[in-house]
Amino acid sequence: MSYATDTYPHLFSPLDLGHTQLKNRALMGSMHTGLEETENGFEKLAEYYATRARGGVGMIITGGISPNDEGNPLLSGAKMQNQKDVLNHQLVTAAVHKAAPDCKICMQILHSGRYVHHDGGVAPSAIQAPISPFVPKAMTIADIQQHIEDFANSARLAKEAGYDGVEVIGSAGYLLSTFLLEFTNQRDDQYGGSYENRMRFPLEVMTAVREAVGKDFIVVYRLAAMEMLDQGSTFDETLTLAKAMQKIGIDIISTHFTWHEARVPTLATMVPRAAFTKVTGRLRKHLDIPMITSNRINMPEVAEQVLREGDADICSMARPMLADPELVNKSAQGREDEINTCIACNQACMDHVFNGQQASCLVNPYACNETIMVKTSPAHKKRIAVVGAGPAGMAYSTTAAERGHEVTLFESSDKIGGQFNIAKRIPGKEEFEETLRYFANQIELTGVNLKLNHRVTDKELIAGDFDEVVLATGVSPRVPNIEGVSHPKVISYLDCLLDKKPVGQKVAVIGAGGIGFDVCEYIMHQPGVELTRETFAQEWGIDFSGHPRGGIAGVETHIPTSGREVYLLQRKTTSVGRGLGKTTGWTHRIQVKKRGVKMMASVEYKKINDEGLHITVNGVAQILDVDTVILCAGQDPLRELYSSIETSGKKVSLIGGADVASELDAKRAIDQATRCALEV
Ligand code: FAD
Ligand code: NAP
Ligand code: SF4
Repeated sequence: MSYATDTYPHLFSPLDLGHTQLKNRALMGSMHTGLEETENGFEKLAEYYATRARGGVGMIITGGISPNDEGNPLLSGAKMQNQKDVLNHQLVTAAVHKAAPDCKICMQILHSGRYVHHDGGVAPSAIQAPISPFVPKAMTIADIQQHIEDFANSARLAKEAGYDGVEVIGSAGYLLSTFLLEFTNQRDDQYGGSYENRMRFPLEVMTAVREAVGKDFIVVYRLAAMEMLDQGSTFDETLTLAKAMQKIGIDIISTHFTWHEARVPTLATMVPRAAFTKVTGRLRKHLDIPMITSNRINMPEVAEQVLREGDADICSMARPMLADPELVNKSAQGREDEINTCIACNQACMDHVFNGQQASCLVNPYACNETIMVKTSPAHKKRIAVVGAGPAGMAYSTTAAERGHEVTLFESSDKIGGQFNIAKRIPGKEEFEETLRYFANQIELTGVNLKLNHRVTDKELIAGDFDEVVLATGVSPRVPNIEGVSHPKVISYLDCLLDKKPVGQKVAVIGAGGIGFDVCEYIMHQPGVELTRETFAQEWGIDFSGHPRGGIAGVETHIPTSGREVYLLQRKTTSVGRGLGKTTGWTHRIQVKKRGVKMMASVEYKKINDEGLHITVNGVAQILDVDTVILCAGQDPLRELYSSIETSGKKVSLIGGADVASELDAKRAIDQATRCALEV
């Protein structure tokens, strides 16, 4: 095996913290999983983190753990408050240190402040957050003192539980960060008013934490480096706080780039790789302690570049470690092509967490399911035909073949990937190409017999020497029953995205699901404009280098568009785009709105003719005089092979879109396919 640590000399150089050393610069950043709150959750968490430790990461920061009830986002959430909590956490630390004695693990202490979803929340002032239905109580001086003790107690217990350190989150709109900004801190005592007063509470908390754990324990402070809020901090204020943290003996500063209530995307797939790291770099020039940067660092070459350019000392990769726990080992061994790259979709991680579900990963359904999804050798090796090399067929084939089955994968087109080949053409979804690269490699490595350009027939499958047939043939676009739907101005989303049929200047898009929105982004995209840090900053009004308040105050936006006039239509009466992903839907809605797309709900489609699309909206008739109508009206399962194979007596099953097309996405397709292939 070749070792490629010299390809990434910065990523694989150790970091000396004085009292201890990190073996490399790859950090698994903090991410809540929801496992903490499930039955036997800490056993599951232990295996989840141990798997990442075995994968070579230098340090892990756990998901946020509350120091007390007030800070718990839901009252039932995980805490570190007493000896019972210590016993739970010991399961995690023991498993990680057993898996990799040289991997450090720190517990994140997170007090949610005014973001909690219960009526016991506290904050510097009684000001409700736009993302919580509850008004927090303004903290008294006694509350402040009690909280300082609670943070210190939590850190002390973390040390007792076997952690190597703690990270305290002072960003994102959680308690500590709300003391820093005037709009959330309107106190007139020693904790409000001047910046010096506003940073007093975070500093007192961190001083108490350091005192509680002693000198030989890693203490990380997560700093709000740019809040993405008009009322955020200036560069000077941020630097003042960072220097003060350095002075009181914090080991590492980790930079964070948003508040949860901000309206600038920082994690979604349309955010360029390493978009925010220069902000860390600018602060780092003025500090002597190591700094962590983060957000959209998903491959080793990205991390290496960030470190090489001097923008950070450590790269945090939270979601990428969900997607591939072996990312670091694969990088060290020159197996980058085998990395299952995080595509920043948020669909199975952040969307789940913010919907109160257990996290997992769209491209890696094993994430957080390590104890229940286990690859075993099958009792009987089978010859399996899989039809369709979309996400479902690829996941099924590679999993079954890895377990030892003999798998033949038929694909009618000239490439693997199914609809992912269409998805990757949407501006901002270029990362989907990485999943195709990953599966291409897995198909080869697991020995799947891939037959491209092979539209397999039922006769072939019945006559073939297969023990089982698995149909992963996907979906066909639905053609709605509208008078004139075969008019020449009507095209399907496949005609538009795949076959690049001409699209006019005035367009109506029928159907406002994920694909309707994607089609709008595609046809409103100004040709030639690439997604870069600069174009992203212009679009969302961020000034990375000037660093005005919050990074955005007073910054003009520039929205490049194709200049088309576009209507995005749905029959439902709900607001358009409501069904999109919990944590990314708002970015898509803002993006198409900013490009002038007119979104219309409560639409009834009457007919399509030379005049355009005839509709009624709440019963009022109108004609949209469009030159092109694009159908994005959902899909139906494509399973024409099923009944004849079933009738023949051969074992046949359906997965992915071929099974259920309604509300299908790649998350469900890959998850279902992987689970089925683990059972066969
Ligand atoms: P498909 O991907 O449709 O694959 C089916 C495969 O079967 C195809 O390759 C087809 O050629 C092959 N096939 C069919 N019949 C035969 C035959 N007889 N012989 C051989 N081969 C055959 N999902 C998300 O989760 N997130 C997103 O952001 C997202 N964005 C999308 C954007 C667009 C523009 C589109 C079109 C889809 C998007 N999706 C997204 C949906 C996602 O791609 C699908 O849910 C997923 O691809 C379904 O997987 P599948 O394997 O069931 O079917
Ligand atoms: P979809 O989300 O089911 O949306 C289909 C749209 O068509 C709906 O808005 C529906 O709205 C409309 N529609 C359905 N039947 C119709 C009919 N007979 N006549 C007219 N309109 C009709 O499906 P999709 O947009 O095709 O997306 C397919 C899947 O891909 C989705 O499930 C989605 O999860 C996934 N995807 C995800 C993303 C993402 O970013 N996460 C992006 C793209 C695709 P009305 O009934 O209100 O008219
Ligand atoms: Fe990354 Fe999507 Fe997996 Fe989350 S679900 S870790 S964003 S690939």
